[in-house]
Amino acid sequence: MRKERLNKRKHKMLLQLSALLISMLTVSIIINLSLSQKASTSVSKPQVDAVYEEVRVSTLSFGDAAAEFPVIGLNEVDKYIETYIHSRLTAIHHAGEEKTITYDILHYSQQTLSIAFVEPGVSTEIMTFDLEKGTILAFEDLILEEHLLDCLELLAEIASAELKEHDSSRLSAKDISRVTAPEAENYRQFIIYNQAIVFNLALNDKNETYQLAISKQLFDDMLIDDYKAGEHHDDLSGNYEPANIISERPTMGSTLSIGQKVIALTFDDGPKAGVTDAILDALNDYKAKATFFVLGSRCEANEDLLKRMSKEGHEIGNHTWNHPKMTAESSSGITEQIEKTKSLIKQITGTAPGLFRPPYGLFDERVTSYVGKEQLILWDIDTLDWKYRNADMIVPATVDSVKEGSIILMHDIYPSSAEAAVEIIRELSLQGYEFVTVSELLEIKKQRLEDSNV
Ligand code: ZN
Repeated sequence: MRKERLNKRKHKMLLQLSALLISMLTVSIIINLSLSQKASTSVSKPQVDAVYEEVRVSTLSFGDAAAEFPVIGLNEVDKYIETYIHSRLTAIHHAGEEKTITYDILHYSQQTLSIAFVEPGVSTEIMTFDLEKGTILAFEDLILEEHLLDCLELLAEIASAELKEHDSSRLSAKDISRVTAPEAENYRQFIIYNQAIVFNLALNDKNETYQLAISKQLFDDMLIDDYKAGEHHDDLSGNYEPANIISERPTMGSTLSIGQKVIALTFDDGPKAGVTDAILDALNDYKAKATFFVLGSRCEANEDLLKRMSKEGHEIGNHTWNHPKMTAESSSGITEQIEKTKSLIKQITGTAPGLFRPPYGLFDERVTSYVGKEQLILWDIDTLDWKYRNADMIVPATVDSVKEGSIILMHDIYPSSAEAAVEIIRELSLQGYEFVTVSELLEIKKQRLEDSNV
């Protein structure tokens, strides 16, 4: 027993001693030691990086697997890199492949270092280290915790708008919404420049990526102080900043959730103080969007409500000036009802309504050709809220009949409708529905049709 304990202690001491020795040796020697039991390992003399003189280049090979990697001189960082290279070489060697891993320093500043490790047949791995902390950075390390979700949503919004416009790899709308979804995993590879952060989005399994450069200004209040713009982010080789920095949020309507269950809530005949506000509050609580088909005659007295709808990302549609039966109007009456309302909405919110809903759903050829077939919006679920005036009757009837892609008709002039709307938004959100504006719904339907035709 005693002897055994002594042996154990001896063994422990030996271990400690060897740990001490190892920690005293340089990185290249560590690699030498750890690989010395294995055959065909070689370490060549470190050279200097082509751009950054302060960075040494180390090489390592293991059978037919070889790697070239930077040595910074910061223990934690160098260890991390070395471990990564070692595990990749082992994997390549075990797979019986012949490959060389190379690297590229994308950015090197006082605060951070970003390295791309390039391996044939595998997607490039970009690592960013905080040199002052000596740690590798994850997306969550950049953003104040309370803003994490908001920030991911902002990035998703920007990324999906950007890919729709500029991506040349021709992703389907569904894939765009998947690769840009507000999940930290999608934004795990980034480079922190002085004025912008570049995210390297993985697009597909062919290792294609997209570089998204976003100005820090867009999310400055969400960033942790260390990563805000400042000299400590200037590149040591000069003042390099990425090209094509996005510095504005995309316009509304560009965040389409193609894969999700979407429906459009519509409210007619308002706005009305005390009712429309309650609906806007509920929409806000559930991050839901709706479309308000307003009457021009009600807009002047409710400018604030109209502005709020617009500011909070809802859509405003035209529902005539004072709710006549359009089929009974003269042609000039039709024009006046539409134009007068349109210009007032534009005057108040800065945006002219693109959609029109005829009162009572009544229209004829003159109305259709004036507003355009696609702009004339009816509904497929009538909540009959104007008739019931009772939330307990409206809610179950609506919730039971809703289906994916529905346009729901309600009226934001009765308190009972507001009460019902709050419940409907809550209930359908729980069922996984996402509330979008009518224009967004039409766009999603169009894109799904395109996707299914591909
Ligand atoms: Zn109406």
